[in-house]
Amino acid sequence: MRAHRIELPTPFAVGPVNAYLLEGEPLTLVDTGPKTPDAQTALEDGLARAGASLADIRRIILTHGHSDHFGNAMWVREHSGAQIFAHSADGPKFAGDRWVIEHLHRHFILAGLPETFLVSFRERMRAMRHLFDPITEFHPLQDGDTVAMDDDRLRVLHCPGHSLGHICLFHLDGVLIAGDLLLAEVSPNPVVEFTQEGRRIATLPQYLHSLRRVLLLNCEVAHPGHGGTMGNPGARIRELIGHHEHRKEEIYRHLGREPKTLVALAQELYQDLDEINMMLALSEVIGHLDLLAEEKRVSAAGRGSAVVFRAK
Ligand SMILES: [Zn+2]
Ligand SMILES: [Zn+2]
Repeated sequence: MRAHRIELPTPFAVGPVNAYLLEGEPLTLVDTGPKTPDAQTALEDGLARAGASLADIRRIILTHGHSDHFGNAMWVREHSGAQIFAHSADGPKFAGDRWVIEHLHRHFILAGLPETFLVSFRERMRAMRHLFDPITEFHPLQDGDTVAMDDDRLRVLHCPGHSLGHICLFHLDGVLIAGDLLLAEVSPNPVVEFTQEGRRIATLPQYLHSLRRVLLLNCEVAHPGHGGTMGNPGARIRELIGHHEHRKEEIYRHLGREPKTLVALAQELYQDLDEINMMLALSEVIGHLDLLAEEKRVSAAGRGSAVVFRAK
């Protein structure tokens, strides 16, 4: 399988995002970049370098529902007639459903954030809506599905944790299209998520499970969602698992016997958090508290409108 990496600029701190053009029939684009003029130009230029154009694309596969990855999917579809494939668990994010924000709002109150933060967070989220065209219909992919390319095939792996509907694509040659499961420079964030009914999902335990599952595949090469192609992905997976083990113990030590809100813990561990980084920091912290709760090492109780945690 030949994958052309096309780097696309994003307005996010993570830097550029990768789309991959997979050679063969049907011509397939994995991820699309955010809906900005810069990313659209870079995508067209990258396709031209690979000897293709937007109109040639027949199939779009989305690794997950973050706008830097799927923002241009509808735009590509309009210019090509390509079909869009993705995991249905990220359907609400592709569609830009409002309830996602409502549940986050309640989570922030329980975490101990003031109302002023919630107002500015909503503004930030509203400003980000122009980075994608909502996708309301797509072909659902499930774990174990195969995606055919000429006589070749890729296996779909459902790898939740960074995003509920995150998928990777695995080729028997040992090549993994990894999306944001595996990044070289940063530890992918286990972004906080909810069911439509508002139940919070324990995303970090899910993410670690996904990592362990992919580790067993003994991949030789991984094409990540950000950064260059990665040799020996197994070493990076072990590193990420070790990082979370270490971080969990660090958070346990910070917790101590004094009850603390999620926000108090996040502010001890991270400095200068803007609205988006606060959301990511809270996701990291609650993720590790979920791991500690599985080990029965942490207890939670209500205090005012917030929840406080302490070490057992
Ligand atoms: Zn992502
Ligand atoms: Zn990403």
